[in-house]
Amino acid sequence: RIAYVNGRYVVHRDACVHIEDRGYQFGDGVYEVCEVTRGFVVDTVRHLDRLNRSLSELSMAWPMARKALVVVMREVIRRNGVVNGLVYVQVTRGVAGRDFVFPSPDTPPSLVVIARKFNMDAVAKRVENGLKVITVPENRWDRVDIKSTGLLPNVLAKQKAKEAGCQEAWFIDTDGMVKEGGSSNAWIVTKDGVLVTRPADHGILRGITRTTMFDVAEKLGLKIEERKFSVAEAKAAREVFISSATTIAMPIVEIDGATIANGHPGSITLSLRQAFFDVAEKIKA
Ligand code: PLP
Repeated sequence: RIAYVNGRYVVHRDACVHIEDRGYQFGDGVYEVCEVTRGFVVDTVRHLDRLNRSLSELSMAWPMARKALVVVMREVIRRNGVVNGLVYVQVTRGVAGRDFVFPSPDTPPSLVVIARKFNMDAVAKRVENGLKVITVPENRWDRVDIKSTGLLPNVLAKQKAKEAGCQEAWFIDTDGMVKEGGSSNAWIVTKDGVLVTRPADHGILRGITRTTMFDVAEKLGLKIEERKFSVAEAKAAREVFISSATTIAMPIVEIDGATIANGHPGSITLSLRQAFFDVAEKIKA
C-alpha cells in the first residue's frame, strides 16, 4: 500500500508525520472521506467545497491547489488499485514547537492522503442484516459543523457501541432529539413514506451523502422533511437508516435494543442506496 505524505508517495507502513505536527498535538486539523465506487470518486466537488469551508472556518490554508489535490487523490487511489473503497484526505496546521496559538503564517500545512479498499462481501452482509445503534448524550463542542480531526467523543461513543454489540452511536441532545451518529447522519422514514432528517445547523455535520440524498429522493419522488425527531419517534418509525460517504444509505434495524419495524432493512432505504450512485457526481478514479 502507498500513502501520500507532504509531497511524497511512500510505503504505507513507513508513512509518518512529525511528533510536533499540530494534528497530533492538538487535533488541529480537518479531513474529508470520499467514497470510491466502481472506479469512480463520488461527490468530489461537494467534498472539496466542504474541505474549503472547514479550512476557512479554522483560518487554515490549502496545502496545495484544489486541482492538484484531486490529482494526488486519484494517484493514491490508482497506486493502491482501489475500485471500491475510500480516499481519505487530512490537512493539519503543520509542524511547529508546541504552543496553543497559531504558528507563524509561513508554516506549511501538512497533507496526508490514504486510500483503502472495501471488503465488498462484508459491505453486502451489513446491508443485508442492517446495523444496530445505541444512543449517547451529546458531549461534543458546538462546532461539529466543522469536519475536524478532534474526534475523541466520537471515538468513545463508537467504542461504547461496539462493546454493546452495535455499529454506530447516536448523539442525543438535551431534549431527547437525535443529532447524528459518531460518523454518519441519522434518518427515519415515517409511516407515510416521508424521509426525515435533522436540519444541518451548527448542531451536526452537513454530510455530503446527506446533501446528495436530497437529489436521490427527488429522483425517486420521495419527500424529505428537515426537522428534529426524537429517539421514541425513531424507534416507532417505518424505517431507519444512516448516511455517510462510506455507508451511503445503510439500514438500522435496532436502537438501544428496540427492534425497528420487522427487524429487516427497509425497502425505501434500499432503493435510495440503489439509486445513489447514478445520481451522485462522479469522476473516473
Ligand atoms: N456526521 C459525522 C459526525 C461524520 O463524521 C460523518 C462522516 O464521517 C457524517 C456525519 C457523514 O458525512 P458524509 O456524508 O459527508 O460522509
